[in-house]
Amino acid sequence: MKKRVFSGARPTGRQHIGNYLGAIQNYVSLQEEYQCVYCIVDLHALTTLQGAEAVGHIQQNIREMILDWLAAGLDPKRSILFVQSEVTEVTELHTLLGMTTPLSWLMRVPTFKEKVKMQPDNVNYGLLGYPVLMTSDIVLYKAEFVPVGEDQLPHLELAREIVRRFNSLYGHTFPEPQPKMTSAPLILGLDGVQKMSKQLNNHIELAATPQETTERIMTAFTDPARKRKSDPGHPEICNIYRLHQLFKPGKAEEIAPQCRSAAIGCVECKRLLAQEINEALAPLRERRSELATRPEYVRDVLAEGAQRARAIARETIREVKDRMGLISKGT
Ligand code: SF4
Repeated sequence: MKKRVFSGARPTGRQHIGNYLGAIQNYVSLQEEYQCVYCIVDLHALTTLQGAEAVGHIQQNIREMILDWLAAGLDPKRSILFVQSEVTEVTELHTLLGMTTPLSWLMRVPTFKEKVKMQPDNVNYGLLGYPVLMTSDIVLYKAEFVPVGEDQLPHLELAREIVRRFNSLYGHTFPEPQPKMTSAPLILGLDGVQKMSKQLNNHIELAATPQETTERIMTAFTDPARKRKSDPGHPEICNIYRLHQLFKPGKAEEIAPQCRSAAIGCVECKRLLAQEINEALAPLRERRSELATRPEYVRDVLAEGAQRARAIARETIREVKDRMGLISKGT
């Protein structure tokens, strides 16, 4: 029996190459060794989106995201792919775990404090309860591993604390989820400074056309010290070079000395990168276009995923309620 991995991602719509290199490729390779449960966490999205913004975006974002996931190689025959709110047991477990999680643990979470500063007009309960819902996502499926980067380790540690507390009060029910450390690279955006992100508009969408990809790359920042083509460059600090390394390592090796000796200009270097990215993503883009013509198939994938997830979730909820004394034994 394969061990189970859980990962959730907010419905952010079309995915970009930062998502692809940083998470999706890893999701795809984990399918070889684990039973993977991949969830689009739409309830979490409601902690930051509200009203018309939520209504107008969530469904569209889910559709775009699942198209990218499937096109990139997530396989609904091997993995369970579904939308969080379709398995309502997660909200039930959220309530039950909420009864055993001390408020002080939640109030000290740095991301909660940051969110309070970022959205002072919308400090909702969901922001505070976020770690409890996140823990519920993971343990509802009794996942043993969660793929995380260094920056997400504290969140997982809190989930483990919540699990430990529940297990100590009611008996061993959940495995303590272990981090499955990913060596995923941090992908900087076209500004060369901040992490690639849609919000910062420094991204390249996986589904972009080859022309759009080229145009976006041509706007990217490079080595700031290289003002003229004749100035020697420093590839080690240039984000374009980093992307060459990720998409075509052999080409990067050729480019480094050419950049240092000013034998290649940044415009040409960017054109080469655009070509590499377009070549590498061509099969994914073709699959995506084909999937987009079959919305009923995509709907079925999510419906079937939710059904499989629900079957596991129901068993867990029954066990948890039993442990907590919520099931009548007929006495
Ligand atoms: S030649 Fe390429 S690697 Fe060198 S600074 Fe320009 S874009 Fe960066």
